[in-house]
Amino acid sequence: MSLEEHLKKIIIQTGPVTIAQFMSEILANPEYGYYKKREPFGKDGDFITAPEISQMFGELIGIWAASVWQQMGKPESIDIIEMGPGRGTLMSDFLRGTKNIAGFHEAINICMVEISDRLIQKQKEALSDFSKVSWYKDFNDIPSGKFILIANEFFDALPIHQYVKKSDGWHERMVGLSVSNELQFFLSPVKSQIDAKHKTAKEGSALEINPAAISIVSDISEAIIRHGGAALIIDYGYDVYIYENSFQAVKDHKYHNPLEDLGEADLTALVDFEALKNAAAISGAKVLGTISQATLLNELGISVRANSLKKNASSLAAKDIDAALDRLTSSDKMGELFKAIAIVPDNFQNPAGFYD
Ligand code: SAH
Repeated sequence: MSLEEHLKKIIIQTGPVTIAQFMSEILANPEYGYYKKREPFGKDGDFITAPEISQMFGELIGIWAASVWQQMGKPESIDIIEMGPGRGTLMSDFLRGTKNIAGFHEAINICMVEISDRLIQKQKEALSDFSKVSWYKDFNDIPSGKFILIANEFFDALPIHQYVKKSDGWHERMVGLSVSNELQFFLSPVKSQIDAKHKTAKEGSALEINPAAISIVSDISEAIIRHGGAALIIDYGYDVYIYENSFQAVKDHKYHNPLEDLGEADLTALVDFEALKNAAAISGAKVLGTISQATLLNELGISVRANSLKKNASSLAAKDIDAALDRLTSSDKMGELFKAIAIVPDNFQNPAGFYD
């Protein structure tokens, strides 16, 4: 059975599905899902993430984590948790970039949170030089203790619900079947109850809500308060509601119809940073940001790192380093659309890159 047949069977048996159910089935179905089947990352994949663009990204995140560890008073044992580590590139660069920081590697245990068995295998290959690594399917499966958590392009992959404002109120967007048995979007006839703060949104506005993201950030923030820790979340998204449909499919670096070639295209939505920040603040944690990816990487010294890499590089490789620097930090590329927040305990001093 193909993924399309599988989804149609679900719809015939149980009725139309929400965008959240659609995303979960298409991305994470253990038998037919996108992460199971496709190699999403890199030039030959569907999209390129920051760690795949340049080793500088993971190295600088490593420096960020090591400086947070120093701020914590260099605990002898700490978990470095990465949510949705893809091919393991960020963590591999992180480890190489921090190996000369006295005591850091002795202290850290790497915890990778990943649902795709195929990607776990890739991550094992990428981290084969480091012995203290373990894998979990869920943040809450990690035994509790002090931790520093990194999530890059993780939250955009979590399933969203989408609502559209009509003259009589908000209606959830669903995926169902047309009379000719094709997948199609339509709005649920049932009105949805939506937070009153969205009352003034114009007709035609779309509102996206990501319950999984909010619940994971709550869990992370509560663990930060309970055991001590810090989290760095980087993703593409917005700080103020945009009321636009950001649900998108990308295949071979191009936008794709999300209802076609199921399981062959990546599905994502922009991250609502305000919702993540609220979830963290409700738990009593201190939230810093939102700052742009450009600000974060510049504060962490990306141009110094680029210059030192260029010293030992051929002129061709030096051009690549400059191109990567530009791609990661320019405002017309990833520099502004990608944003970062940090979550720390209430009394913790601001971590590197995040200044009031
Ligand atoms: N952070 C990586 C990969 C981003 S793609 C990078 O920057 O290159 C999203 C990653 O999250 C993939 O590894 C995917 O398998 C994983 N993922 C998606 N949903 C998940 C979930 N619910 N729990 C854990 N991992 C998940």
